[in-house]
Amino acid sequence: METHNPYQLALKQLDRVARKIKLDPNIHEKLKYPKTLLIVSIPIIMDNGKLKVFTGYRVQHNIDRGPSKGGIRFHPDVTLDHVKALAMWMTWKCAVMGLPYGGAKGAVACDPKKLSIREIEKITRRFTTEITPFIGPRKDIPAPDVYTNPQTMAWMMDTFSMHSAHAVPGVVTGKPLAIGGSFGRMEATARGCIFAVDEIMKYLGKELRGSTVVIQGYGNAGSFAHKIAQEKGARIIAVSDSKGGIFNPDGLDYEQVQAFKKKTGSVKNFPGAKNITNKKLLELECDVLIPAALENQITVENAGRIKAGLIAESANGPTTEAAARILFRRKILVIPDIVANAGGVVVSCFEWAQNLMGYFWTEEEVNRRLKDIMVLACRKVWELSREKRIDLRLAAYIVAVERVAEAVRLRGLYP
Ligand code: GLU
Repeated sequence: METHNPYQLALKQLDRVARKIKLDPNIHEKLKYPKTLLIVSIPIIMDNGKLKVFTGYRVQHNIDRGPSKGGIRFHPDVTLDHVKALAMWMTWKCAVMGLPYGGAKGAVACDPKKLSIREIEKITRRFTTEITPFIGPRKDIPAPDVYTNPQTMAWMMDTFSMHSAHAVPGVVTGKPLAIGGSFGRMEATARGCIFAVDEIMKYLGKELRGSTVVIQGYGNAGSFAHKIAQEKGARIIAVSDSKGGIFNPDGLDYEQVQAFKKKTGSVKNFPGAKNITNKKLLELECDVLIPAALENQITVENAGRIKAGLIAESANGPTTEAAARILFRRKILVIPDIVANAGGVVVSCFEWAQNLMGYFWTEEEVNRRLKDIMVLACRKVWELSREKRIDLRLAAYIVAVERVAEAVRLRGLYP
């Protein structure tokens, strides 16, 4: 049976690259384990007057290349193993992009769709309080992830700042502009993904303009991918959210779908399009498939039926290890998550740097620098994959793990 435990997947991916590069077994052993695991209880008084305790996690996987970095997600199904995997992926993501960070991830097991704004604020503030000793601009810097947003970051920044008795904008990224956020951060994950797709298509002698695109997930990454891909002249033929998907071979207009989702709460039943399940959506014929939702979407069960020319993993861990092998055999190119969705953390790094120096860049400057970093990483990963005849994921992992291993070697073990 194929494992759907994301931490087991993350360990397998590490094993694979370790074998390939003959990684020093001592360094391999160190990298299997997160540096710090925090599990906290978050008691809050719900709107009905009753006390309820939520569980929160913060996992710091590695800090050899710099302070740890990674988002906070609010999701009912998160487990410690999810957060451990996501933290490890952040280490590789920051390394392959050349950012001066290690990796971390946090989560609260809760269903924000069933909570009031007031309850979400209380959870955020108490969670921040519990992890306060472990985070900070030079230590560990959270950011938004699934079902968290700039408002969540504003509450985190405020809570941390109140404990410090001065404003500490650099403690989190993905903040609103008014309190030290960066231009371009909202769209950064999607913009980075489309830069990567554009670049890899160029190497393939293809073009995004005029191509058909399918997007699974309509959160921050998915909805902005729709907008930016459309601006680049692609035809977006299907999109979905957690309630289901819509398909129109003639294309779906971003502004109209966005307005419809705002009004009805879902993209489902969008006029002029056919409703389709999330499962069927992944199997549509298209030039580019962008999974922008959760883990374990492309598995051995459906990998044989995927009809996309190119997959850009905007979600973290959407493809299982066995599915990735099937796709490789079928010559379906996959831009791995640690490159395809890295735009978010790249602009997070810009936001953090702007906070530390107290001087801000224009949106053009942010997007130009994002493009430079995405193109550089794509080129490096692409060239290595051609040279060694391996898939892009293994190539990206080789670049990332070698960089982290070098840092581990140089710093040595303390004490
Ligand atoms: N949550 C995003 C990710 O998975 C962004 C993390 C960050 O900006 O620190 O990459």
